[in-house]
Amino acid sequence: MGYAEVSVNSPIAQRRTFSYAIPSGLNIDVGQAVWVPFGDKLLQGIVLELSCYPSVEETREIAGVIEPRPLLSPLQVLLARWLSEHYLSPLFNTVALMLPPGFERKAVTFISIPSIPDDFDLSSLTPEQRHTLELVQRQGKVSLRELENTLGKKKTQAIVSQLVVRGLAVRSYELGRVRVKPKKVAYLCLVVTAGEARQEAARLREQGKAIKQASLLEFLSQVSQPIPLSEARRGTNCSTSTVKAVVSRGLVELQQIEVKREPISYEGITLSESLALTDAQKSAFQSVQSSLHQVAEGQVSPTIFLLHGVTGSGKTEIYLQALAEVVKLGKRGIVLVPEIALTPQAIERFASRFPHRVAVLHSKLSLGEQFDEWQRIRNGEFDVVVGSRSAIFAPQPDLGLIVIDEEHEWTYKQHDKSPRYHTRDVAIKLADLTGAVVILGSATPDVETFYHAQRGDYRLLQLPERVTPSEGSSLPPVKVVDLRDELKAGNRSLFSRSLSQATAKAVANREQVILFLNRRGAATFIQCRTCGLVLRCKRCEVALTHHFVEDALVCHQCNYRMPVPQICPQCSSRQIKFLGIGTQKLEREAGYTFPQAKLLRWDSDVTRGRHSHQEILSKFRAHEADILIGTQMIAKGLDLPLVTLVGVVSADTSLNLPDFRAGERTFQLLSQVAGRAGRGILGGRVIIQTYSPEHYAIQAAAKHDYASFYDKEIAYRRQLHNPPFTRLVCLTYSHTNDVLCQREAERMKHLLIEERDSKGIAGLSLIGPAPAFIHRLRGRFRWQLVLRGAEPAVFLSQIPIPQGWTVDIDPVSLI
Ligand code: ADP
Ligand code: ZN
Ligand code: ZN
Repeated sequence: MGYAEVSVNSPIAQRRTFSYAIPSGLNIDVGQAVWVPFGDKLLQGIVLELSCYPSVEETREIAGVIEPRPLLSPLQVLLARWLSEHYLSPLFNTVALMLPPGFERKAVTFISIPSIPDDFDLSSLTPEQRHTLELVQRQGKVSLRELENTLGKKKTQAIVSQLVVRGLAVRSYELGRVRVKPKKVAYLCLVVTAGEARQEAARLREQGKAIKQASLLEFLSQVSQPIPLSEARRGTNCSTSTVKAVVSRGLVELQQIEVKREPISYEGITLSESLALTDAQKSAFQSVQSSLHQVAEGQVSPTIFLLHGVTGSGKTEIYLQALAEVVKLGKRGIVLVPEIALTPQAIERFASRFPHRVAVLHSKLSLGEQFDEWQRIRNGEFDVVVGSRSAIFAPQPDLGLIVIDEEHEWTYKQHDKSPRYHTRDVAIKLADLTGAVVILGSATPDVETFYHAQRGDYRLLQLPERVTPSEGSSLPPVKVVDLRDELKAGNRSLFSRSLSQATAKAVANREQVILFLNRRGAATFIQCRTCGLVLRCKRCEVALTHHFVEDALVCHQCNYRMPVPQICPQCSSRQIKFLGIGTQKLEREAGYTFPQAKLLRWDSDVTRGRHSHQEILSKFRAHEADILIGTQMIAKGLDLPLVTLVGVVSADTSLNLPDFRAGERTFQLLSQVAGRAGRGILGGRVIIQTYSPEHYAIQAAAKHDYASFYDKEIAYRRQLHNPPFTRLVCLTYSHTNDVLCQREAERMKHLLIEERDSKGIAGLSLIGPAPAFIHRLRGRFRWQLVLRGAEPAVFLSQIPIPQGWTVDIDPVSLI
């Protein structure tokens, strides 16, 4: 008899598998989805390993298979195990990342009667048993639920059990139905004949009224089949009320017709050819190309490339040509982009190079779309899968290339639920398992990624210039405005004199302006408006956060506290203030300051729906507004040719976040925002307002100088023992009672210290506990504890973590 190690979908299962016996006659493979008994329940599980011996003495049997074909490839099984160990995450959570969307469902039990032995004495059954047997036999297969509906739950279970015990009936299990709604589209079709429609149209035209109705009727009389409503409206430029009118007059019918889902609409997409590469692109591409070939020939293990190129330097063209190369070699690729960058324009670039060979996966697709797409990917229907974070787990066969565009983006880290994985690390592990080449692309690489490239762990490829000279071969000029000077000059508005003049001028010239504000941390740091001093923790260097309740300043990393000073400790000014503004306030002030301009706001409050990003963007592109006001969403890959001015209203909000990555974050944001300007022929400029004009992150962003930013930043990281020189684990405890919460965090700290000291582990420090930056979330208080050292996760993996704690390995943010 064989045995299977199964990852079971139960919270109790944690990081381990369970041993089950494989009943004879059942074909079981690694990666297969099965039903297993677990306690008194029947649960879903995935087989991760087969063996001749069970890992425990007593095993139960696998109850049945969910799908004959394995859902995870053997490599994905390895990846799931790695994820669980690396991120200290329950095993089924990591397995689930790779299952088809909508997989996690309850079992539906079916009863069937295989065959009744000839010599079986039916009269030995009770009348009810016999009745049930006949009923099932007639129908072939009946769901347990159906029987329960007629016989009642208790009785059904008893009868079925008896029939099963006597070998007359068998149970089988299937997944409950996925509730996937078919997609329907409204079509118009004539109810009358084409001739009649034309006559009616002619009559309306003669009378000189309802001309729109007439042209709709004429339009429909020319097509032989029902036509999509949207197409008819576009073709005749008519409104909904025109359509309603002809429908209500009984001339035309509106039908809902089911259509196949295809997330990419190929309508209007034409095939695009590879561009002739610039010299810089060529040399970068050749490195990738030769690595791909060497891997294919089995000569070397695959390379990780860091493609560092300013916005518009032609990185995407390199991805496209590398993908084409991979396809030539008989393999396939996955391209990851930040969710927000998954615009139709971005997808179109891939779709037009690989028509009908591109799959799209992201969280805004309906479950049905995701499900269809997953199945088709697994069947090998696509050369390229484009998607956000979770697309790294797509069942793409023959993987040869993984591209992560904007690799520095924090959205690549899943921070809100387990496993708290980083897509980049997963991609690198997956590449290691599959032999795929990786390209990490960015204009502002993550400091840690760049560090690896410097050390030679990754290969650095650089594209220092924009491709098209007409778009300005140099990047836009950036002016840094010192807000302290504004105050001295008596200007208390949100807009410096430079910014308000430049904005007014651009609007008067019928050009467009973007006003950018990073709203995260929209409140809480304290700054002297005379000298610009921000109060910081003496130990951690992060900005102190104001707590209203206690009226104290708190370090959110180590819990250092101090009273709010009345005068500035540096210059003795009394102008020491809480700073913080939101986009709404900014919109209001912009309304007063630029009364002649039309404003449009873009932040997460106004973009909840599926299409609203696109809607806001197309409105702005159509010049329906002069000034776009928004948060970091604005900073993402948009091409807006009429924008000639980008104003950063306050660079300080991100600079003063209580996190050691605040400088890096600010540099990335400012660089991206600055990359928005000057992409059209009109050119453009950037104005950054700040109280800390001398800060290296702001200085470097203003000069578009990644290297000087990196040098300073990496030196600070080394000095303060922060990653990449150490690794972090962030432990967060949450509870409705703040005092209990703090006490538990203290208890945990002491436990960890004891454990560390008893094992004699050197160089592992504990920081905190401190209240989390978002101290109270959905009614629960949160305290956190940071472990810092060479391998804090390995240390932690041997310690049972009580309920209520979340563990974030290699967090991207401590707030
Ligand atoms: P990035 O991805 O680095 O932001 P893109 O690949 O989007 O840069 O390139 C910017 C623009 O330059 C795009 O419009 C692209 O079509 C164009 N482009 C890229 N490479 C070339 C090339 N070799 N020749 C001509 N145009 C190019
Ligand atoms: Zn001061
Ligand atoms: Zn501190």
